[in-house]
Formats: sequence, C-alpha cells, structure tokens
Amino acid sequence: MNYILYVVVPCYNEEEVLLETSSRLLAKLNILVSKQIISAKSKILFVDDGSKDATWQMIKSFNEKNKMVTGVKLSNNKGHQNALMAGIMTAMQKADIVISMDADLQDDIEVIDDMICKYSDGCDIVYGVRKNRDKDSFWKRFTANTFYKMMNWLGAKTVSNHADYRLMSKRALEALSGYKEVNLFMRGMIPTLGFKSGIVYYERAERFAGESKYTIGKMFSLAINGATSFSVKPIRMITWLGFFVFIGSIAIFIYSLIRHFMGETIRGWTTLMVSIWAIGGLILLALGVVGEYIGKIYLETKGRPRYIIEEYID
Ligand code: UDP
Ligand code: MG
Repeated sequence: MNYILYVVVPCYNEEEVLLETSSRLLAKLNILVSKQIISAKSKILFVDDGSKDATWQMIKSFNEKNKMVTGVKLSNNKGHQNALMAGIMTAMQKADIVISMDADLQDDIEVIDDMICKYSDGCDIVYGVRKNRDKDSFWKRFTANTFYKMMNWLGAKTVSNHADYRLMSKRALEALSGYKEVNLFMRGMIPTLGFKSGIVYYERAERFAGESKYTIGKMFSLAINGATSFSVKPIRMITWLGFFVFIGSIAIFIYSLIRHFMGETIRGWTTLMVSIWAIGGLILLALGVVGEYIGKIYLETKGRPRYIIEEYID
C-alpha cells in the first residue's frame, strides 16, 4: 500500500472544465491519501497540449495553491495521443502507478479505487471500460463501433469500449517506453505489452462543459493511424487482388481464344482483352510485392522491442 499515484490528464482548450476537474480529482486523491491507499506524494499531472485559451495559466495557478497539482506544457498542439504519452512518460519517473483520463470528467473517478485494488492484486494494466454508450450520440456510437470492428479484423487487439482511461504500473510504462514509433495509437499498443491486466466497468457521463475537442478530422486521423499502425493487411490485400486478377486474366485468355477461333470476334478484340487483364493483374501483383517490402521496412523502422521481460528471477 501507499503507492505513489500520478493522474495524467491531457488538456486541449479545456478552461471551462479544468477548475471542476482539478477540485474533484484533488478531493478524490485526498480521500485516498487519508485511507492510506496512496502516498501523500501522489499528484495530478495536467498536460497542456498547446491550448490557445487560459488552460496553462489555470494549471499554473492550481499549482501555486496546491503542490499536489502539477503540469507540463507542450510547445504546440500535438494531439491527444502524443499529449498522453508526454504525460505518462513524465509521470513514470516519479510514480509507482499512473492513471490516465480525459479532462472533461466523462470518466468516472470513483472507479479509481477499484483500479488500484486490481493493481494490488497483481495487474500491471487496468482498463476502464464503459458499460454502455447511451450517453453518446448516434454518430459517435456508430463510428466507434465500426472502428473497433475494423481494428479487430485488421488484427489489432483493442479492448472494446475502452478509451484512454487506464491504470498502468511503472514496469508496464517502462516497457511502453521501449516503443519508438512516432505514430501513436495507445489503445492498440498497450495490449501488445502483455502483462497481467484487468478491467473495471464504469458509466460514461456526458462532457461536463465545453465541446468535444475531437473534431471529425482528428477522429479520422486517429482511425487511419490505428489501422495503418497496426497491420500491413491493407498491403497484403493488394497482393491478393493482383494474384486473383492475374488468375482471372488466364481465364479471359482462354475464353478470348475460344471466341477467336469460333470466328465470333472482330479483329483486335482478343489481343486487347488479354493484354488489359494480364497487364492489370501483373501491375497489381507487382505493386503488392513492392508494398510487402515497404511494409517490412515500416515494421523495422518502428524499432519496437522484440520482447518484454515480465519477471526476472535472479
Ligand atoms: N485532447 C488533447 N489534444 C487534442 C484533442 C483533445 O489533449 O488535440 C484531450 C482533451 O482535452 C480531452 C481528451 O483529449 O481531455 C479527450 O477529448 P474529448 O473529450 O474532446 O473527446 P471525446 O470525449 O469527445 O471523444
Ligand atoms: Mg470527452
């Protein structure tokens, strides 16, 4: 017991919610400290993701009033995933456990106790999973469901209905720090770490104030990033397509020859048909092969660790 807990909160133009978020989180941490579940050295770490409003000034003023609130400021808007990474990597140096959550109080902070409980039971990663999505708009639900289905099909093992509300232990974070990629998609990366993990369920509330900072553009780029960061399946599909078109071209070749010898065609049709299909197939196939190599280069350049040692018995 008495773990040092850091709660990492990425914030982009969140001046409307920050006061409430920081006071609720502080109250929560103080209760946990008094119950001796976490150490008094625990902190809230706000990450200002290049906000254009008063977010950073607010974070600084919270820190002046209460040293339990700290902050880091990014030089400009790098997006949620990068802000989150910056926060948890900073927190890792001081904390035993790190919980990441959104600034808008959509994630229920009352399940923090359960998360820590699961951590004491030996889980290195505890995912916060929302019970249902009836507070979300139809559009958000639809895009999210499609996205999780697509990710599973592509082979990335994401936890359904889990956003970025999660607890990670120091050693899980240290393992994550070995991932050198720049295109971040945490929800896909963290399950690949392995380690024992647990789930806590919670009701997702509506945004406390302000508007969603995930614009349609940011949502799509997260989805495309997720898909292309985790699999070379799209490239493999081109290879297969090329292969099938080429096989098809052989059938067309035979068919065209038969028509030709039956004398049912005009001059030049056979040659045209055969060449269009054969060349089309070959081009796709070649593209796929080139793509396979690019895919390999891509996976290599990430320089991800080949393995992560969970335990070491000396
Ligand atoms: N966020 C960020 N940088 C961005 C966009 C969002 O740090 O460029 C933060 C935002 O402040 C919030 C979290 O990411 O703490 C989730 O964003 P939001 O609640 O707007 O997304 P939604 O809940 O609508 O998916
Ligand atoms: Mg939100």
